[in-house]
Amino acid sequence: MASEELPIDPSLWPEPPPKEKVEEYLAELEKGPWPSHVTELKKTKYPVYIYGMGLVAGVTPWATSAAKAPGIYSGVLSRMSHPWTRINPPIFEDHARVLIPSAQVFTTTLLRFLIEASRRYGWGLMQFIGGTGDVVLNVVREKLIELDVFLRRIGLDIGGSGDVMRNTVSCPGPLLCPYAIYDTLKARDFTYSCLIDWATYPQFPYKIKFKYSGCPIDCLKAQARADYVVIGTWRGAPDIDNERLKQWIEEGGDVEELVKSCPTGAISWDGSRLNIDGSKCVKCMECIRRTYPAIKPGREKGLTVLVGGTIKSRTGPKLAKVLIPFIPLPSPDKLEEALMTMFQVIRDRIVPKWDEEGWRRERIGDTLIRVTWHRFLSDFAKFDPDLAAKITKAKPTEPYYTYGITFFNMSEEQKKKYLEDLEKAMESWQ
Ligand code: SF4
Ligand code: SF4
Repeated sequence: MASEELPIDPSLWPEPPPKEKVEEYLAELEKGPWPSHVTELKKTKYPVYIYGMGLVAGVTPWATSAAKAPGIYSGVLSRMSHPWTRINPPIFEDHARVLIPSAQVFTTTLLRFLIEASRRYGWGLMQFIGGTGDVVLNVVREKLIELDVFLRRIGLDIGGSGDVMRNTVSCPGPLLCPYAIYDTLKARDFTYSCLIDWATYPQFPYKIKFKYSGCPIDCLKAQARADYVVIGTWRGAPDIDNERLKQWIEEGGDVEELVKSCPTGAISWDGSRLNIDGSKCVKCMECIRRTYPAIKPGREKGLTVLVGGTIKSRTGPKLAKVLIPFIPLPSPDKLEEALMTMFQVIRDRIVPKWDEEGWRRERIGDTLIRVTWHRFLSDFAKFDPDLAAKITKAKPTEPYYTYGITFFNMSEEQKKKYLEDLEKAMESWQ
């Protein structure tokens, strides 16, 4: 599709920077001992000159645009050269968001396929985004359908932008980490197998994010960033291996420090034996981090499900609240069953109700503030009134029901700031 000239009224826009200045600026960025991103961009078909114009002018050289292709309803982001650049006909730049394997683990074969796709159907550019777990492939608009077919052949989908379920992210879990309480990678794959339509067809008031952290350390910061958060946890006290603990002490481990490090005073030491009071343990992982593998997550494993975390939203940043304190996970092969218990609440009750009552561009965390936590639990999650009342009336000493797990991993200063921000957000809402 050859792009057509657009009517541009020069009086509406400032003069673009002179060509020599743009070239001088770009040349400067290629100097020095470090690899230059400009030199690398020049190896692709990316319009580096437009990028340089934006740098010199100090404003973006891109304006929003839209790309549509039959069968692709979500996952394509589009922009075009801004009228102020005077580039006419404009240059279009489209990107496809690719739903990638869990924990961003790529085989070299898959990477080669992605490189091939970016060269064959785009400008030879790929972007790997850490936090959201997205891979974005630059694509030439008229080749969008061909790219979609190519990606499907290698087992990938385009999706995850707009009012859909965004890219679901898991920590590396058992692949790399000894603390993992459940298989986060499998949980993410299972989510896609149950909810792929949510990722590819825009249908909600706003976006939905699921994140899976293998233990309460929550490396993904899922509690602060996702609408639905699944964290591996356990019931009662962490598991102590006395032989290994003895070895840890012989190698210089400081038991007094260990006792002091527990934020709730759950650990005691009688001079020869370590005890942990499971009823006081808030699963902060501190003792485990200090002594692993002498102290490990407890044996009665399970999943904690939280709802409503966001960084940006109508009511400001907020940590997700605990929705389902504990779904037992007696053995790894029961993971799908445990996740189905969660989906029965989220997929079958909360999301349809949110779809009905949610305001435009309102994340689920905003909705639950607007409708109140109590009504959310009874009308959205459809919990039994006794359970809803128990959760709403829980005291701050019952951390799962109030601030969740990550709160206890914050420094005192961070806790103070978080509570202040939360208060401000609540004020601005009222
Ligand atoms: S969240 Fe826990 S299991 Fe996952 S990578 Fe971090 S420490 Fe490991
Ligand atoms: S996990 Fe945290 S709260 Fe539980 S015993 Fe260890 S340090 Fe204490």
